[in-house]
Amino acid sequence: MGAPAAAFERIWNAQALSHADLMALARAQAERRIGPKPGARCPLCNFPTHQWAREIAEPVAALIRADFAAWQADDGACERCAERYAFLAQAPDLVGGRPHSLREGRRSICTDEK
Ligand SMILES: [Zn+2]
Repeated sequence: MGAPAAAFERIWNAQALSHADLMALARAQAERRIGPKPGARCPLCNFPTHQWAREIAEPVAALIRADFAAWQADDGACERCAERYAFLAQAPDLVGGRPHSLREGRRSICTDEK
């Protein structure tokens, strides 16, 4: 039984629930929420965001992990970063023929400019 179903069972079967009981259940659910909170910093670009990507497909997640080895899908990513990596996943030919690494691309752009 998942956490929401367990919470429902607890409420449904309770003889009585106080305001404090309901608030405790609500807090417990909020803490279980997967993904970062609104206004938290994106682990990829480090900018605060309220627009977290709702879903990150596995090929996109693999590209993110190529740049951020410790990153996991539950860490989340802002919509902007998720879009950038999704673009890389779909169009590797547009970034030097290699389907990796925005970090690497940035580094090579910098070295080309010298
Ligand atoms: Zn970001």
